[in-house]
Amino acid sequence: MSLLVANIGELFTNDPGLGIVHDVAVVVEDDRIAWIGPMSSAPAADSVLDADGAAVLPGFVDSHAHLVFAGDRAAEFGARMAGEAYTGGGIRTTVAATRAASDDELRRNARRLVGEALRQGTTTIEIKSGYGLSVADEQRSLRVAAEIVEETTFLGAHVVPAEYAGRPGDYVDLVCGEMVEAVAPYARWVDVFCERGAFDADQARAVLVAGAKHGLGLRLHANQLGPGPGVRLAVELGAASADHCTHLDDADVDALASSDTVATLLPGAEFSTRSPYPDGRRLLDAGVTVALATDCNPGSSYTSSMPFCIALAVREMRLTPSEAVAAATVGGATALRRTDLGRVSIGARADLIVLDAPSHLHLAYRPGVPLIRTVLHHGVPQ
Ligand SMILES: [Zn+2]
Repeated sequence: MSLLVANIGELFTNDPGLGIVHDVAVVVEDDRIAWIGPMSSAPAADSVLDADGAAVLPGFVDSHAHLVFAGDRAAEFGARMAGEAYTGGGIRTTVAATRAASDDELRRNARRLVGEALRQGTTTIEIKSGYGLSVADEQRSLRVAAEIVEETTFLGAHVVPAEYAGRPGDYVDLVCGEMVEAVAPYARWVDVFCERGAFDADQARAVLVAGAKHGLGLRLHANQLGPGPGVRLAVELGAASADHCTHLDDADVDALASSDTVATLLPGAEFSTRSPYPDGRRLLDAGVTVALATDCNPGSSYTSSMPFCIALAVREMRLTPSEAVAAATVGGATALRRTDLGRVSIGARADLIVLDAPSHLHLAYRPGVPLIRTVLHHGVPQ
């Protein structure tokens, strides 16, 4: 089956560079992009989707989300907006709710959020575990995630669960032993919350090394709440991504710039915890590859909206609108080490967004406005 996406006013290809071209068409064969060229020479296809002069861009690649959980933490958000500080301690509230939920409740909630994201243009989303924190609950979290998405991440080292209070070393041993063994068939990545109050550099290193031994790729929650060793550990171990990157010194930025580790910025977290934003401009100017993601989770960033993150990145982190769109598409793909996503090029997966706007600029220019007209996912209009 072939589909002609006709009358594209502006096509944001990310290939090469931003690759913005005008008055073009795209042909999709099955789930792949098969042809890109001037509208005037577009070939015939089995069906036509008329973009009617609108902008078309790659589907968003949200490389950081925590979608397997139960309950919500609206009351905690309310208290925080009334002046309480965010410490990460509320994660344990979600752990209790998640452990008490059935597989089916977890599955339905995760599917609901993936659907919500898709309607906002997200065609790839990564899902982390991290609210089970026992061998059985982490394993079922990842089993549920793997039923729904390709990109799944084991985050057993999210916090030390209550039953291991005062014995973090014993918990790290569990994560590095029985737990990683149980989850590895369902996970592609391993991640650690490397932060004061969570896991220190030695513990994070142990977890990442154990994950790598089981064939998992590496990612790291790093330098969110304060300065720390996370970013440099991520670079040293060749992690695909260091996520948050809010509190960086010059050595951290230099390390990222001279590595293949992507800096994944999560401005929804700063928004929802009323915290200072990372300096995205400084990272881009240093030559760091930047991704934007939602960090969708019930505690510190309960948004599934990549357009919202793009608007925040432009307004609060000094990215240009084009840089923010690139970070939300090819940046996320790079953070997941995927070359078939986040770009409009021959052979790439046919994940496309038709905007209700003539230019990608409108995503930041018109914040909060539903500008996603049509989403093609694996070549199929949603
Ligand atoms: Zn996170």
